[in-house]
Amino acid sequence: MKVEKPIPVMNKLQLISDENLGDIERAKGEGRKVIGFYCLYSPTEIAVAADAIPVSLCGTKNDPIETAEETLPRNLCPLIKSSFGFAVLETCPYFVFSDCIIGDTTCDGKKKMFELLNRYKTTHVLQLPQNQDDAGALPFWREELERFKKLMEAETGVTIDHHRLRKAISLQNRERAARKALMDVNREKPAPITGSQMLEVLSKVAFLADKEKSIALMEEMVCEAKEHAFRPRDSKSNSRKRILLTGVPVGIGSDKVVRIVEEAGADVVAFENCSGYKKTFQVDEDADPLDALASQYLQTPCSVMSPNGGRFDLLEEMVRGFGVEGVIDLTWQACHTYNVEAFQVNEFMEEEFGFPTLHLETDYAQSDTEQLRVRIEAYLEML
Ligand code: SF4
Ligand code: SF4
Repeated sequence: MKVEKPIPVMNKLQLISDENLGDIERAKGEGRKVIGFYCLYSPTEIAVAADAIPVSLCGTKNDPIETAEETLPRNLCPLIKSSFGFAVLETCPYFVFSDCIIGDTTCDGKKKMFELLNRYKTTHVLQLPQNQDDAGALPFWREELERFKKLMEAETGVTIDHHRLRKAISLQNRERAARKALMDVNREKPAPITGSQMLEVLSKVAFLADKEKSIALMEEMVCEAKEHAFRPRDSKSNSRKRILLTGVPVGIGSDKVVRIVEEAGADVVAFENCSGYKKTFQVDEDADPLDALASQYLQTPCSVMSPNGGRFDLLEEMVRGFGVEGVIDLTWQACHTYNVEAFQVNEFMEEEFGFPTLHLETDYAQSDTEQLRVRIEAYLEML
């Protein structure tokens, strides 16, 4: 049996991830505040500018869902139930460390869940417009960010001026650029990093408190992956179908579709979702910083926006750029916005690229694994 050599930079990632909670605890001990975030629409730069530590919160595992269902309806998106369950059970250390939580009014389930979450930890909810293009949407969102800035100032005692905001934007632009460069490695054929490896890296890096550490690590990964692929190559590597995953966010624990695709002999080479490419935009460093944050974050191409034209632009660029041969559109059960938008995504792919998407609706449980496998294998066969 061929034994795979450990990849040194992946070991380093594990080491840094293991140190992460200690880093946060130490920073808290020194008086820094920890702010928990759930969604891509909230600019973490505002917390960084207040010298606080922004952390992503857990929500990709099935275990806490049973507890969440004692309070929340069963027929709700697993991401929302998992997030709530983690909070109630106090099994997400990042939630436990957080001094307060920032949510935003993205979908109905999430915003109603935040009302209940507030009983466990102070949860500030930003009012997100439902449309990116109306004349009133941007000024409204900028006002919300002004309110968010004041909240952070009150929480930390730090006055957030332009200089602090610009520094935070510049740091996070570097982080997003490193993230993009890492994902762009897989534009190469065959993809040097498997979808599972990419997901593991992106998920773990998202939890790192020290942004300089995460930037350095991702840059090192890019160099290493360009030098020698993270995966063994064989005669079949070039014939593996190249798949793009779009739709809802995925992470460690909610990655069954990625695993099944790989077991079926194909590669997920691109992630057009919040876990992946949607987090790679750049914020204008020359404009008024709050204007720049409001305008860039509002453009996040998520299905909660109506309409959501940016998603199709991003899909088009990625399908071409990554040499994609098939698109899997993933919807978590009871996520109405992604579910409805699936029709348009399929129509777009057929018209622009001449192949349909495979739309899958599932949850975090493993009970439908074999059913998904049959559908994924049939789709790959058809491509
Ligand atoms: S999919 Fe939309 S609502 Fe969900 S985390 Fe991403 S931006 Fe937020
Ligand atoms: S996946 Fe859909 S239902 Fe779930 S939190 Fe995101 S937008 Fe809401």
